[in-house]
Amino acid sequence: MPRFVTFSRNVFIPLTNICRNNCAYCGFRCDIRHPEAKLLSPPEVKDILTRGARAGCSEALFTFGEKPEEVRGFREWLLRLGYDSIIDYLAEMCRLSIRIGLLPHSNPGLLEGSELEKLKPYNASMGLMLETVGIIKAHESCMGKVPTVRIKTIETAGKLRIPFTTGILVGIGETREDRVNSIQKIRELHERFGHIQEVIIQNFVPKARTRMALHQAPGLEEMKSTVSMAREMLPSDVAIQVSPNLISPGELVRCGASDLGGISPETIDYINPESPWPGISELQAMVDIPLRERLPIYPQYIKKKWYSKEISPLIMELSDAEGFRKTYK
Ligand code: SF4
Repeated sequence: MPRFVTFSRNVFIPLTNICRNNCAYCGFRCDIRHPEAKLLSPPEVKDILTRGARAGCSEALFTFGEKPEEVRGFREWLLRLGYDSIIDYLAEMCRLSIRIGLLPHSNPGLLEGSELEKLKPYNASMGLMLETVGIIKAHESCMGKVPTVRIKTIETAGKLRIPFTTGILVGIGETREDRVNSIQKIRELHERFGHIQEVIIQNFVPKARTRMALHQAPGLEEMKSTVSMAREMLPSDVAIQVSPNLISPGELVRCGASDLGGISPETIDYINPESPWPGISELQAMVDIPLRERLPIYPQYIKKKWYSKEISPLIMELSDAEGFRKTYK
């Protein structure tokens, strides 16, 4: 069992809920003609960032649907904001985040090498869930969910020395063997590039009005055995993260989970809006060991200086001597 369990204090910024994929379990994506289709404007993003800074957050988590420009009508929408690419818009919002005092962590789906290079200077870390190396029904007709192309993005991030978060989804129709193979693949990528800072083991939660609304969620025992398997297979410098708004983390920490992810005092989990974040004191009550706040970049990557000159002053301002979050009062 680790000496402490980490978390970060963040705001969640879903730039758009338009996505070219259509995963069977997704309750986030919206049809572009639907009244709830969203593209946050710069003032809306600024408002979230400002509230986050006031609430003591250190991280801005930018996540949104994959390659939304491939959805007819989206590019015109984006052009009205003055951008012809969502990645250019994201880079601008990351710069805004740094000016306001929050370290960006972007998780925008599949990215080309040139897009990763564009975002790298303005991100403390980035992420892409591998999800599974299995070929599953839930990902039918989702071109972004082909395992080899996801591996390619994670690999390119490694070549660019971007501290990276990835993970697997448990219970979306994959087999246990798929889970082992997925963790094995992540281990291989980390052995080659040394860039995987954390691996999320996320339990599937059925969402109303989705094609998997009646699909059974994995139980605690299944999650415990998956966390134990991942802990055994991954090197000790890679943290295992579980999501405390989706599953009670106490027993999973005893199995080797060492991180509880981003907890937001200001925004909801837009991917799982029915599952509120616990408050920090509730979170502490869920685990047997002390909590320790971290930044979106893990201490070992601060020590190795895997960050740009653009983001360096903010990392120095927010981190303590060990590379965790300076005590926030
Ligand atoms: S899960 Fe992600 S990639 Fe799949 S449809 Fe939803 S937003 Fe798109």
